[in-house]
Amino acid sequence: MNLLETDISYLKGVGPARAQLLGRELEVFTYHDLLMHFPFRYVDRSHISTIDKLDPEAPVVVLRGKIDRMNTVTTGRTVRLTARLFDGTGYMELVWFQGVKWVKESLKPDVEYLVMGKASYYSGMLQMAHPDLEPFTSESLSMRQMPIYSTTEKLKAKGLNPKGISRLMNTLLAQLKGHIPENLPPEMVQKYKLMDREQAFRNIHFPDDAQALSQALFRMKFEELYYLQLDYQYRRTDRHLNSSGRVFNTVGQHFNSFYNQKLPFPLTGAQKRVIKEIRGDMKSGRQMNRLLQGDVGSGKTLVALLTMLIALDNGCQACLMAPTEILASQHYATFCRMLDGLGIQVALLTGSLKASQKKQVKQRLEAGEIDLLIGTHALIEDNVKFNNLGYVVIDEQHRFGVQQRSRLWTKSKVPPHILVMTATPIPRTLAMTMYADLECSVIDELPPGRHPIKTLHGRDSMRLKLFGFMRQEIAKGRQIYVVYPLITESETLDLKALEEGVQALSCSFPLPQYRLGIVHGRMSAEEKAFEMDRFKRGETHILVSTTVIEVGVDVPNATVMVIENAERFGLSQLHQLRGRVGRGGGQSYCILMTKDQLSKSAEERIRTMVATNDGFQIAEADLKLRGPGDLQGLQQSGILELKLADIVDDEPIVCATRNEVRDLLEADPKLEQPQHLKLKQYVLKKLNGPNWDKIS
Ligand code: ADP
Ligand code: MG
Repeated sequence: MNLLETDISYLKGVGPARAQLLGRELEVFTYHDLLMHFPFRYVDRSHISTIDKLDPEAPVVVLRGKIDRMNTVTTGRTVRLTARLFDGTGYMELVWFQGVKWVKESLKPDVEYLVMGKASYYSGMLQMAHPDLEPFTSESLSMRQMPIYSTTEKLKAKGLNPKGISRLMNTLLAQLKGHIPENLPPEMVQKYKLMDREQAFRNIHFPDDAQALSQALFRMKFEELYYLQLDYQYRRTDRHLNSSGRVFNTVGQHFNSFYNQKLPFPLTGAQKRVIKEIRGDMKSGRQMNRLLQGDVGSGKTLVALLTMLIALDNGCQACLMAPTEILASQHYATFCRMLDGLGIQVALLTGSLKASQKKQVKQRLEAGEIDLLIGTHALIEDNVKFNNLGYVVIDEQHRFGVQQRSRLWTKSKVPPHILVMTATPIPRTLAMTMYADLECSVIDELPPGRHPIKTLHGRDSMRLKLFGFMRQEIAKGRQIYVVYPLITESETLDLKALEEGVQALSCSFPLPQYRLGIVHGRMSAEEKAFEMDRFKRGETHILVSTTVIEVGVDVPNATVMVIENAERFGLSQLHQLRGRVGRGGGQSYCILMTKDQLSKSAEERIRTMVATNDGFQIAEADLKLRGPGDLQGLQQSGILELKLADIVDDEPIVCATRNEVRDLLEADPKLEQPQHLKLKQYVLKKLNGPNWDKIS
C-alpha cells in the first residue's frame, strides 16, 4: 500500500482521539491529507524587533525579552492574565484570556523568551494578545521561517495548536523520507526547473530559506494547476474521441433567405467571426460544446438565430433555453418577428402555459412540426421529446448548472451541438480554468452607433435632482428603469423597499402625465409579462422592478437605468443591469443611487462602474475585489479547491499549465504512453469520481 494513504491515527503523536478530531476539524484523514495542510503564514524569526521601534501594523512581530510582572484580573466571569515583557528597549503588555492557569504556571521570571504575535494598541498601550512564547536558546533562530498552521479551538484543546501541528508535520516528513514520488512528467520538471516533489513538501513546511520557499510554492502551484487542467482538458478530449457529432454540411435555404431578405442590419465583424467558428464546429464531425461570451448588448441573440437556421438547413430541430419566462417570451417574440414569412415553425414552451397548450406544443414537437423551440427550464423536463434535436442554445448560462445542461443530451440519440451564451464576461484566467472543457468564442465588439452609457453616482441627498432629470428624459420621449435590490434572505423586506420606492415615485410622477409599471418576483409570469409588454410598447414611462429584469431584456427606447441601493449589488450584477440601457441610438445613463456613507469596497465598486463600461475590466475588478469564491458557477469548477494557486496572481502558471496540457493531449490523447500512466490514473479517478457529471 501507498504509505501516503496511511490512516493518520498511525502517525506517532496522533492516536485515535486526535485522529478523530483532525478528521472532523480539518478533514485530515491520511498522511497525505496532513502533508497537504500547508502553513498559512511563516514568521521570519531571523528578524527580531525591539519594543521601542515596533510596527503595530505588521501581522506578526518577533521579540526577545523577559517577563518581570504577572497579574490575574477577574471581571465578572472572565479571567485575564497579563504579563509585562521587557526587552531592554521598552515594556509591553502580554495578555491571555484563555488557558490562564496553564500559562501562568509555565511562565518563569528570569527566563529569556522568544515572543511572537500581533502587536496592537489597547487604550494607548502596546499589547499583544495570546502571543506564542518559547524559551530563547541558541537553536531558536535556526528555524528561520517558522510555519504557522491554521487550527481550531477544539484541536488546540487537545494540544494541537499551530506548534503542535508543526511537530506532527516534522514527524511525518521524517517518516515519509523517500516515499513522496514525483507526479509530474519529467519533461515538465526539467523545462520549468521544478523543485523535486519531496523537497517541495519539505520546504513548504519547513523552508530552508526564503528562496527555497518560493521555489517550493512555485512547484506545488504548478502541480495543482497542471492537474486541474489535465482533468478538464482530458474530458474534452475524451468527449471528442468517444462521441461523434452531427455533421451540418449545408448552409441552405433557411439561412440564406433570412440572411438576404430579413437581416435587419449588417453583422458586426465579431458576430461574423463567431458564426464562422460555430459553423466550423458544426461540420467537424465532433459534437460542439462552445461558450460564447459577449458583453451585454453585443448581439448574441442574432448569432443564436443564424446558427439555429443552419441546424434547420440540415434537417434538425433547434431549441433556445432562457433562464426566465420574461426572457423566453422576449426571444420568442423577436424570433417570430424576424422569421416572419419564411415558413419556419417557432414555438414557445414555458411553465406557465396552460396544460392544454403545453400538450399541444409537445405533440407537435415530437411529430417534427416545430422547427425552433424557445423556452425555459420546461424544455428539459423528461416528457419533452424532440423529433430530431440537433442544436441547443443556452442563453445567460450562469443560471444553468452543469447538471441541467447535461440533461439536454438525453433528448437526442446523437448528442446535439451546444452553444452556451453568457453576458457575464469571465476574466481570462478564470475562463482558461473553469471552461477548459469548453471551446470559447468572444464577441468583443458592440454594434455600431452606440453611445457609451454615462454612469453617475448619486447619493440619497441628491434625489430631487434625480427626479428632475428623470422628468427631462421622459419629456424627450424616453423610458426609465428603476431597480431595487433583491436580497434572498428576506423577500418581504425587499418588497417593502420596492413599495416605498413606488410610493415616493408616484408622488413625484403623478398620473395622468406619468405612468408607472411594477415588476417583482412575487408576481405571476402572466402579470410580469403584461407589465413588460406595456413598457415595451411605451405605455408606461417608468418601470420599477426588483432584479427580475437583470438579464437580457431589450427595450431600446429605455435610456435611463436608476439602481437604488446600488451599494448592495455586486459588480457584475450592476454591469448586467446597466446593459439594459444604451441599446438604441440616444445617449443613455446609468445612475447608481447609494446612501451617503459607503464602505470601502462599495465605494470601490461604484468607482469602477463609473470609470468603465468594459465588461471584461469589470470582471477583472470583481475577481480582485471579491476573490473567485463568490463568482457564480465556480462551485462546481474545482477552482475553489485550489489550495495554493490563485488564478489571478498566478496567471503565468495558469497559462503555462494550460498550454502544456494541451500539447500533452495532442501528442497522447488517450494518455497511453507508459510515462503518462500516473496522469491517466488520475484522470480516470476524476472521471469516475462521485461528483462529476460526465458529460458536462
Ligand atoms: P445580447 O448580446 O445582450 O443578448 P442582443 O442580442 O439582445 O444582445 O442585442 C442587443 C441589441 O443590438 C438588439 O436590439 C439587437 O437587435 C441589436 N443588434 C444586434 N446585432 C446588431 C448589429 N450587427 N447591428 C446593429 N444592431 C444589432
Ligand atoms: Mg441576450
